[in-house]
Amino acid sequence: MSKNPKAVGLEDTFHFSCNPGIDCFTQCCQDVNILLTPYDIVQMKNRLGISSTEFLEKYTKRLLALNTSLPAVQFKMDEENKKRCYFVGEKGCGLYEQRPWSCRMYPLDHSDEADTFAPMVDSTRCLGLEDNTAWKLRDWLQNQGLQPYNNWNQRFAELIEDEKVTSWRKGYPGGVDIFYLACYDLDHFREQVFKEKLFEMVEEHSVDQDKLETDDLALLEFAFIWLKRVAEGK
Ligand code: SF4
Ligand code: SF4
Repeated sequence: MSKNPKAVGLEDTFHFSCNPGIDCFTQCCQDVNILLTPYDIVQMKNRLGISSTEFLEKYTKRLLALNTSLPAVQFKMDEENKKRCYFVGEKGCGLYEQRPWSCRMYPLDHSDEADTFAPMVDSTRCLGLEDNTAWKLRDWLQNQGLQPYNNWNQRFAELIEDEKVTSWRKGYPGGVDIFYLACYDLDHFREQVFKEKLFEMVEEHSVDQDKLETDDLALLEFAFIWLKRVAEGK
């Protein structure tokens, strides 16, 4: 039996520890479905020192939600190595400081109630849930470095939930590809921004062209605003 209740609130106690001495160490980095967010991709491709285009080609699969025409990016597992993550090694995650949101949250996920979280697996699959180490859940989430990830995921959720953007993506030829480019393939999008002078579509005061050239997060912020402008104009 797990030491944790089904749903845990931010002020509740959460019992958990993951460390190299545990029998299941790195098992959760194998044959797993992980969707990557735009912010995840920026962090990982920069850590690896490769372009977003190369990262997406080598390490991800592109998916599509048919009802909303929303493209998504899934981490590819290594088929030639027992479907293990490309970045897992004996000592654990090789991208630990830049690991994606889902990996930071594991073994928890949002539960149906607001501000509560629940283990997505039981303690037979994640032995760390049997550990005696007690955390206030709020402290554990902070310890996982989730804050910037949550902030960017919130912005991305607002874009995804924007009805004008959704109907543009569903109705405009090429809309899905443009959305994918601007949200996920930022280095390629940057080329288009300067080639097509896309910054001219967004109010001048909110665009710093020098930053767009050098700062991926400034470019991502621009991408979200620009997609809304495009959707409003169609
Ligand atoms: S299954 Fe749980 S305890 Fe085991 S390595 Fe993964 S997170 Fe850690
Ligand atoms: S990125 Fe790191 S934590 Fe996430 S599945 Fe791969 S090795 Fe595991």
